[in-house]
Amino acid sequence: MISDEDIRRVREATDLVALVSETVVLRQKGREYWGRCPFHDEKTPSFKVDPRSQLYHCFGCHAGGDAYGFVMRTQNMEFQDAVRYLADRANITLAETQGGFSQGKRARLLEIMQASAEFYAQHLLRSKERGAAAARSYLSGRNMGSELAKQWQLGYAPGNASLSEYLHKKGYTLEECLDANVVAKGQRGQSRDRFYERVMFPVADLHGRIIAFGGRRIDSGEPKYLNTSETPLFHKRESLYAIDRAKAKISETGTAIVVEGYTDTIAMHAAGFTNTVATLGTALTMQHLKLLNRFAKKVIYLFDGDEAGKRAATRAAELITRDITPEAGIFRISLNVAELPPGTDPAELLAQRGASALQESLDKAKPLISYALEQSLSGMELATPEGRTEALRRALTVLLPIRGSILADRYIADELALSVGEDYTKVQAMFNNMQAPRGAAADEEEKPASTPLEPLRETPGGGAAETSLQNELLLLYIEYPEVRELLSQAFNKISWSSTELAQLAQGLGASERQAPSDELYALALSLVPSYAPVLSAGLQRSFAGSARDYAQLLMHMLREKQLLNEIALARIAYARANTQAEGAAHFKVIAEKQSELAQIRERLSQIPKTLV
Ligand code: ZN
Repeated sequence: MISDEDIRRVREATDLVALVSETVVLRQKGREYWGRCPFHDEKTPSFKVDPRSQLYHCFGCHAGGDAYGFVMRTQNMEFQDAVRYLADRANITLAETQGGFSQGKRARLLEIMQASAEFYAQHLLRSKERGAAAARSYLSGRNMGSELAKQWQLGYAPGNASLSEYLHKKGYTLEECLDANVVAKGQRGQSRDRFYERVMFPVADLHGRIIAFGGRRIDSGEPKYLNTSETPLFHKRESLYAIDRAKAKISETGTAIVVEGYTDTIAMHAAGFTNTVATLGTALTMQHLKLLNRFAKKVIYLFDGDEAGKRAATRAAELITRDITPEAGIFRISLNVAELPPGTDPAELLAQRGASALQESLDKAKPLISYALEQSLSGMELATPEGRTEALRRALTVLLPIRGSILADRYIADELALSVGEDYTKVQAMFNNMQAPRGAAADEEEKPASTPLEPLRETPGGGAAETSLQNELLLLYIEYPEVRELLSQAFNKISWSSTELAQLAQGLGASERQAPSDELYALALSLVPSYAPVLSAGLQRSFAGSARDYAQLLMHMLREKQLLNEIALARIAYARANTQAEGAAHFKVIAEKQSELAQIRERLSQIPKTLV
């Protein structure tokens, strides 16, 4: 059996437009995508995919449904197999359990987490035990006195099976407590409290429900930190500490700060950096970034100024993928890296030198790619041709996962060739001839097909490669005023692979030697939404006055799209609810999201509409 929770996770991780595009040629019209129905014979497209609701519908044969329905029908699969198929596609490991994991059980686990948090908090506040007193003095010694402790629901785990007994009295079974991982089995099979003699930090999900704990030892024992293991509620590669508290500010500022510890996060929030979250016993993952990207355009990954921080920064280079290139469109993640002064972590820096010192480090954040290139070149011998070749090989390896993107080419031309002192055409040639590492090759084949440029794939004369080349030419035109004259001559000779592209080229060509007009930007945006980040950069250069409005507009439009999607999902869950309480919970989610949607639309209505 597959849990409802996993079914939801997989559905949320699946992009129906990309999925359908694998078998149906889709074209974008407004906010929807249309193609010829795969379920009945037709000449004109009457099959619609709505990216907001993540549902498809055919106006000819009335077929319709979600991603699961689509897979079941096109691949002739049972529901459970469709879930497994899409989970595999989304790199999600299903926790298949005997007898399944129902919503009812999930609700029980959430109750256990809540009850445990209350138990821990009571002990921290009131217990006369020596350990609890030590926990209190540990916290106040780190500027986390009773006010902050209450605000963050901090607690103390006394151990001695006292939590096990407390939960047993409240009517929870041993099996449930083991599933929630607040109780563990000892070496001789006896059950014991999973956390003991530790300061406890409750970890909540996006909606503020406690799903895990982090426990810190007060003495010098090991391990210093102990987190909840993977449970049906908690997946560390997808969860971020304080995301429930930080999401509003992240959404408001468009920026998320990521640190690596509980106490650092609390110190950051206390100092006013309330858009801070932390990873939980793992480095930042692509799943984390995708979660943050629902609220943020920009992520700053803040590293301690020590060796461990440096190592973490190097590992972060693994996050350089096509998701952070301009071609990834409106879902592009701008990932930046900031380093703290040597020998400090966020809490220490804030305590010693205040918020302004920390802000200074944040201001120096640089794009992850720049940072990784710098790291790869540091300490290399650049005076000899052999040294330069070796340095280039190391640096180019960083860029391999995004080979073929404008971003990679730009880093080679603007940064790498200059800092190594080689001619950039030579560097580019070396890059093109490099062997892709194992595994990355498959990635390169696969990824471009799911970029947002895909809807333009239908081409009479050329293939996807040609269309993507034409797209890049247009982007270059918009981004680099100095090549406009040259490109507009080339535009006349190209046979465009779609009328939309031809129209855009014609419009851009007409405005040769001057900045493209607002109308032209709007046209480009309406044709290819994935141009948005690049266009916004272009706008910032050309129309300084309206760039802020424009960026806000894009941000709100993106959030509006996400909210509509989330509301649709919540409605489906509501319709499928088994009990009244479950239904009420989903209804509450729908109501919350609708009120946020209303706020977003209110803000949208205040932005000048020249670009919509
Ligand atoms: Zn049909």
